[in-house]
Amino acid sequence: MHKGVAGDQRESNVVGPFSWPGRYVVMSNQAEPTRPFPKSIDPLYVKHYEGLKRGEVLVPCCRDCKALQWPPRVMCDECHSIDFDQVAMPTRARVFSYVTVNRAFHPWFAARAPYFTVLGDFGNGVRMLGLLRDASADGVGCDQEVEVGFDSVGEFAVLEWRLADETAA
Ligand SMILES: [Zn+2]
Repeated sequence: MHKGVAGDQRESNVVGPFSWPGRYVVMSNQAEPTRPFPKSIDPLYVKHYEGLKRGEVLVPCCRDCKALQWPPRVMCDECHSIDFDQVAMPTRARVFSYVTVNRAFHPWFAARAPYFTVLGDFGNGVRMLGLLRDASADGVGCDQEVEVGFDSVGEFAVLEWRLADETAA
């Protein structure tokens, strides 16, 4: 029997409360699908997710050479130090790339399709993926300014991008 993700999708053709095979758990027992979230957070990302709950996008920064490390690593990829601070990213970024998702892989996302996944560039070497909220089909393009936003998922929060109000810059 095929054990891959595609096979799992076919076998779990369930509407309502369900468990995404292996990696995700639904944060509610309501019939309405809720946003998926990892069952456990990698220890390297714990401070990042704690920051998101407080409305900050934190990225590890090497104490020795000041290099930002994203994604987080055990060891600085510039100087091999294992000493890090957490640095807050700017509240705005520019769209480096984006994807229009027409066919979602999960019921929570399916209710929002078509939607955009944006790779936002903070201008300091760090780029982060996030869903773009409240954008129309012609509302996004490369180099467009976006703002950091947050969405609560159970006791956690995730980064979302919002179109920036250019006049408020
Ligand atoms: Zn370093």
